[in-house]
Amino acid sequence: MNPNNIKSLDTISKIEICHCEAFFAEVPLFESRTERNLKNGTILFFHYIKISCLPVRQASSSRRPSTSLRTASTPSRSDNDCVFFKPFLVNFIFIATIVGLHIAFGQTRSNFEFEKNAFVERHAKVQSLASNWFDVTYYKLDLNIASQPNYLTGKVTVAGTCRQNNSQLLTLDLSNTMRVDLVLVNGASNVFVQRSSSFEITLAQPYQSGEVLSVTIFYQGTPASSGLGSFTFNTHNGVPWIYSLSEPYGASDWWPCKNSPSDKADSADIIITCDSIYKVGSQGKLVSVINNGSGKSTMHWKERYPIASYLISIALTNYVQFSNWFKYSPTDSMEVLNYVLPEHLSAAQQSLPKVIDMLSIFSDAFGLYPFINEKYGHSEFTGGGMEHQTMTSLGTFNEDVVAHELAHQWFGDMITCRTWSDLWLNEGFAEYSTGIYRERKYGTASYWDYMNPILQGAASAAGIVGLPDTTSAQKLFNFSLIYAKGASVLHMLRHVLGDSVFFQAIRSYANDPQLKYSTAVTNDFQKICESVSGRNLDYFFQEWIYGENTPTYQYSWSWNDAGDSSLLSIHLKQPAGRANPVFFTMPLDFRIKTAENDTTVTLFNNALMQTFTIPFRMKPISVQLDPDNWVLKKVISGEDILPTEYRLEQNYPNPFNSGTKILYLIPKRENVTLTIYDLLGRNIAALVNARQDAGMYEVQWTTQNVSSGVYFYRLTAGDVQIQKKMIVIR
Ligand SMILES: [Zn+2]
Repeated sequence: MNPNNIKSLDTISKIEICHCEAFFAEVPLFESRTERNLKNGTILFFHYIKISCLPVRQASSSRRPSTSLRTASTPSRSDNDCVFFKPFLVNFIFIATIVGLHIAFGQTRSNFEFEKNAFVERHAKVQSLASNWFDVTYYKLDLNIASQPNYLTGKVTVAGTCRQNNSQLLTLDLSNTMRVDLVLVNGASNVFVQRSSSFEITLAQPYQSGEVLSVTIFYQGTPASSGLGSFTFNTHNGVPWIYSLSEPYGASDWWPCKNSPSDKADSADIIITCDSIYKVGSQGKLVSVINNGSGKSTMHWKERYPIASYLISIALTNYVQFSNWFKYSPTDSMEVLNYVLPEHLSAAQQSLPKVIDMLSIFSDAFGLYPFINEKYGHSEFTGGGMEHQTMTSLGTFNEDVVAHELAHQWFGDMITCRTWSDLWLNEGFAEYSTGIYRERKYGTASYWDYMNPILQGAASAAGIVGLPDTTSAQKLFNFSLIYAKGASVLHMLRHVLGDSVFFQAIRSYANDPQLKYSTAVTNDFQKICESVSGRNLDYFFQEWIYGENTPTYQYSWSWNDAGDSSLLSIHLKQPAGRANPVFFTMPLDFRIKTAENDTTVTLFNNALMQTFTIPFRMKPISVQLDPDNWVLKKVISGEDILPTEYRLEQNYPNPFNSGTKILYLIPKRENVTLTIYDLLGRNIAALVNARQDAGMYEVQWTTQNVSSGVYFYRLTAGDVQIQKKMIVIR
């Protein structure tokens, strides 16, 4: 976007009469431009404007031709669609939260069979205690899993590289519910001490940076499930049904590892021995199934893409299987392998083949499916869905859930949140991607049917998206904050950047060589968005990812009838008193309805109170704030927000060094001046000299060649004069 695209306000007034739906222009006006406009008195605080003209169409909500405030129309709801989440559906409290969400969303839960009793939450946070100096490169899980009684006997090899000289104490994560019998390091037995959630190995000699070591742990026990149900012994129709869901802290409940998303292994092997009547779903490719005799078989899954420990899973029972094929080039296809309960085969065969269209749509949007050399698949378990790498665990065949989990293969599995505080990079992206799938497969209306309830859920989110409470799985997987608000952030970013730049940024993020098959934090995504768009987006990420809550807007408008010189003033206010952020900076759409057409202008709101004045020849019937619901917000109704008195506020900051802002209010159209004087009464700067409509105005004074000391600023509006003092410190 080039600030020089549109040079004068005349151009904008011509845009107003354009009826072309596709027409669109953008005018960013920066700080210097604002000051110039102040001087010639034509327009105030008009930093940025985008105008598009739409044909007249029936309004969906009543619009009153007055200057009073209106309430945003209630987003439409879909009574039968289900938005799903990963699920995490675990203990009673969490289920209660989800029930509440569904009620709030006006949705039914009929498609979901949440298993409340399968999981037992242990509320303690189990953060990784594993040694940072040990950089994991490979995991091999060789597990014998029995169900009569429930028992796991394991031999796990963890290979890695030393990243710090003189390292001799190696700590790995494992719950002491599992008993360690023997530890071998590079083949030799080693001393170890087991603690509650970890074990420490004293190495035979210090390791130096760059040296590699391979640790093999022999252990056994009955895993105790924690978090979202890390390891579950269940049954269906009386048949044992055993599965894992390790995110976020549960991997070390059932196997020794580095229990952190930040350190991915380059590859993994998962080898499971169990009763021969079972199939085991896991990561990568199934390379062998060996019948051991005595009713036991060993299945070997080989994952050759980088993988985080929480994305390694097993799911086993007497599954039946069927496959669909994703034909991603004229000559190549990839298998989508489904392991489902025999009693659910028919339902699965009806629903799951939709994943083929999803693979095409996401591959078009984000780049080819990231594990194309292996497979994608689903293993049935209970409890929503979990995006285990290349083999999602699925507790429902709901289309939105299937799309959500598939999207995670790009956002979550290929690019993994480096810390749990960045979880929205997984969940917000997957949740929003489902909207992209809906839009591309079923059209725009389906996108909005999906997004409107999410926006509504996000509006109630408490807390900070970029710093959620990570102390327990339940707090971390807060739907309204991490999923709904995370998705809403992307929805808003799309409108801020425009469609083509937004999708280019998402694609660049997904294909960034530093991030692909690795990990990311929010700042990585922000930098890519800024690089692709050429814009500074710090305000956006600070307020939406690191700020709290959502903006509340009050607005009114007035129109000055002066023929071709007619002006429309829009007065906008965010209630004072919030802390983080003090106010939201956002481009906001206003739809101006006249007897002939609708015109949408986008105004860049970057002050607590702001009046925008734009040339507008036709008499408006109504002005609607963010009519299409692109911004997470509340619009409150109330009396007219135009000032009823003359006011000159104390400048801020004060004292100041290089610049300060001055806010004033005038209750009617007046000739206005705002002038700076020094102690001797000399005129230092004329900030405003214009005829202005009633409204709230904020002026920036950037001091240059002004020495330290006391200065006065004086507002003159008609017969009224108000003066205040300010201090410059050099
Ligand atoms: Zn998810």
